[in-house]
Amino acid sequence: MHASKESNLSDLGEFGLIGRIRERFPAPEGVTGIGDDCAVIPQRSGRDTLVSTDMLIEGTHFLRRDIPPYRLGWKSAAVNISDVAAMGGQPTATFLSVALPADLETGWMEEFLRGYADISRRFGVALLGGDTTASPDRICLNVAVLGECPSGAARLRSAARDGDLVCVTGSLGDSAGGLKAILEGVARDADVQALIDRHYLPLPRVAEGLRLAATPGVHAMMDISDGIGSDLEHILEASGVGAVIDVPALPLSPALRRVCARLGWDAAALATGGGEDYELLFTCTPEAERSLDVPHTVIGVIRDLPGIEWRGAEGPVAGFDHFKKTPHP
Ligand code: ADP
Ligand code: MG
Repeated sequence: MHASKESNLSDLGEFGLIGRIRERFPAPEGVTGIGDDCAVIPQRSGRDTLVSTDMLIEGTHFLRRDIPPYRLGWKSAAVNISDVAAMGGQPTATFLSVALPADLETGWMEEFLRGYADISRRFGVALLGGDTTASPDRICLNVAVLGECPSGAARLRSAARDGDLVCVTGSLGDSAGGLKAILEGVARDADVQALIDRHYLPLPRVAEGLRLAATPGVHAMMDISDGIGSDLEHILEASGVGAVIDVPALPLSPALRRVCARLGWDAAALATGGGEDYELLFTCTPEAERSLDVPHTVIGVIRDLPGIEWRGAEGPVAGFDHFKKTPHP
């Protein structure tokens, strides 16, 4: 590594580190490499192969005593399938690697696999391999996913253009509200349970992603894993543009609105700063938006000035960086 001012990863940050790796390993001609939801690798068949991988570490991404293993199995596959959905592709296969402590009960792994199998079946994705090894104490899980799309159809983060509308599918903040309810031990009425289910049993927007990618005028697309406060920055940076976001327009579910009103939580902060909704964030021309057959909400517009202007926000808006451990601006 070249000499750097930052002495440790918390100074450099998750995205700083990824930037360093990317500088060192530029993608070959015609291939989309580091920096999007999936790599896009053209095939001679005239289709493109999509590949992504994600890691879940006990203590960082989940607490063993809090998450039922079925739900963890579901979620491990879901977040990867979502990365293919984010490109507008069809997920086809996953590979599952696990590092497990020797004293883990076999029943835990059975339940994990049941959840993994249920979502795999639901999306028609085959588990084709992986790796198994021992870990000193923590469970470490890695899933790689393969998908495909017609040649050139993948929607990249770098495709947003001045004047595009910024849109999202579904609603934002439910997963963050569910996590907050778990961490704060909130009593589980039907609304709270609905939020917790969205946190543990996310449904990747595969059908929506395929339809969006087939619509001319849909430009940049990604899935929302860290919260739009952080994820939108990736589209803006990759596309060299900025955006104005209308905070009161952010789509909030009735369950989230009711729970926030009752407990005094800031729904807009959960919707912008909270992650793991796995909705699709995309930009498109106003003409394309009028013809879209995918349920969505327009939340703002792309403009040719850097940064995000949050209109109507009551407080600061932030996402999440894994090494900084705090919301980053
Ligand atoms: P996502 O939120 O969609 O999972 P990430 O923010 O984790 O994406 O990663 C951003 C980009 O950086 C992706 O293209 C990913 O493949 C790439 N990336 C992340 N970590 C590494 C690594 N250690 N080596 C190479 N590429 C990486
Ligand atoms: Mg992603």
